[in-house]
Amino acid sequence: MKNQTSPILDYQKQDLFINFPNLYSSSPNIDCGVGLFDLIDIFSTLLEVRSKEARINEIKVESGMLLITVEGFKQKDNDYIFGLTNLAATLSQLICESCGNKGLILNCPGTLNPRCDLHGGFPFDNSRREIAPNLPFSLDHIGRKRLIVSVIHRSSH
Ligand SMILES: [Zn+2]
Repeated sequence: MKNQTSPILDYQKQDLFINFPNLYSSSPNIDCGVGLFDLIDIFSTLLEVRSKEARINEIKVESGMLLITVEGFKQKDNDYIFGLTNLAATLSQLICESCGNKGLILNCPGTLNPRCDLHGGFPFDNSRREIAPNLPFSLDHIGRKRLIVSVIHRSSH
């Protein structure tokens, strides 16, 4: 099994397809760990509010980052959606793909993945315990929905 990460669960995919029927109208491939579900859920909520035309084309993890491909949106929404996908990619580097707790990019067999202490591989060169000493929010349980919303709220003011 790839990196021994539990893949996102079928019922979670169905939740996304049901809750955001327009965004997921093409039943896109979603290839990531269960720990990133809340992040994808919030991403979808924000994207749907912004654009009625946007469609999610693919969701995958590459080199420890969540990459969400979006298409069909209007040009005026380009900057917002670019920022939103970048924010999701950045946050995903701090979230354990296996469980949603605070993680760091670690060397896992064959690739790099964000992992918590429990699910970790070998520390990558520049991995540190804390990203910065004075963050205005806690990174513990960063993958949980309430905290992601809090981070996005703070970064938009
Ligand atoms: Zn974990």
